[in-house]
Amino acid sequence: MKYLDEFSNPDLAKKLLDQIHAATNRRWSIMEVCGGQTHSIIRHGIDQLLPNEIEMIHGPGCPVCVTPLEVIDKALEIAARPGVIFCSFGDMLRVPGSKNDLFRVKSEGGDVRVVYSPLDALNIARQNPDRQVVFFGIGFETTAPANAMTVYQAKRLGIENFSLLVSHVLVPPAIAAIMESPSCRVQGFLAAGHVCSVMGTDEYPPLAAKYKVPMVVTGFEPLDILEGIRRTVIQLEEGRHELENAYPRAVRPDGNPAAKAMLRDVFDVTDRAWRGIGVIPQSGWQLSERYRDYDAELRFSVTDIHTDESSICRSGEVLQGLIKPHECAAFGKECTPRNPLGATMVSSEGACAAYYLYRRLDLPAEVAHA
Ligand code: SF4
Repeated sequence: MKYLDEFSNPDLAKKLLDQIHAATNRRWSIMEVCGGQTHSIIRHGIDQLLPNEIEMIHGPGCPVCVTPLEVIDKALEIAARPGVIFCSFGDMLRVPGSKNDLFRVKSEGGDVRVVYSPLDALNIARQNPDRQVVFFGIGFETTAPANAMTVYQAKRLGIENFSLLVSHVLVPPAIAAIMESPSCRVQGFLAAGHVCSVMGTDEYPPLAAKYKVPMVVTGFEPLDILEGIRRTVIQLEEGRHELENAYPRAVRPDGNPAAKAMLRDVFDVTDRAWRGIGVIPQSGWQLSERYRDYDAELRFSVTDIHTDESSICRSGEVLQGLIKPHECAAFGKECTPRNPLGATMVSSEGACAAYYLYRRLDLPAEVAHA
């Protein structure tokens, strides 16, 4: 497995770890923004190999986790309607809404289908002209271009029985919101490599300068993450706060210009609610006026659905790095991947699920054996 093994090489990992240990003189808190990075850090035990002075804070970059409960409820409402074919990536089917989930809707007769690309949903719409086909378009800047392309193609081809339930979110406004929080402890960021592969890196130097935090664009394999941490620690120790790109094999400064042009055409920036965090101004996308006819919220009149979050679940604090998953009283007890109370336990990229899968047995006995 050439391209996996070479970024997991234990000898190179040890060299990077030695450099991180040698460079670290003070306590630092570093946030990895992306859920994929969280998963990799916990799975490979990277945080346990770092100097005690370095704390990794797990950020809000899991798309399933930050999709608001009320958007899940809107999906459930639409999916249960007669004549609708509701298409989604598989990871959304088990995300709990306020009463049930898409699996339950499917078991009760709803036509809920797992697809591997939003363009598959468009094909389903073509093949079923007498049905309404909806794709659940969630996620960060990474998944948005393919969703934008689907709506663009639907309009171009005149496919009118297709629509998109949109809940796209943007990373840079979330970083700003985290830094503006009075309880913020973050001193440096590993920026999400795949987001930057689409959007480029232009948005990050102003954030690094404004909040005086180093930002290192980082990939997802163990060596990528160690290199991102190494560069962040060196900047912190030297009192610098700059953008660095530690993922040049995938990220160019201008990102993917064709994808960005598609995004500009199909979406407008809007205020967006993040599950557990609340509304962050100008932190998401909605369909632009030209494509508003393809907005499933409007087509199915579900804009008035509003839902309160569970009072037990502390995923908002987890997503902001204020607590670790096992510090939630429900972790491993009422809340497990089989019976998730919050979205951070549902997705394999969620911090709670990652701790449950890879770290539970290292935790105190009352948590590990609950
Ligand atoms: S363990 Fe479960 S209830 Fe607690 S914060 Fe995580 S998802 Fe929410």
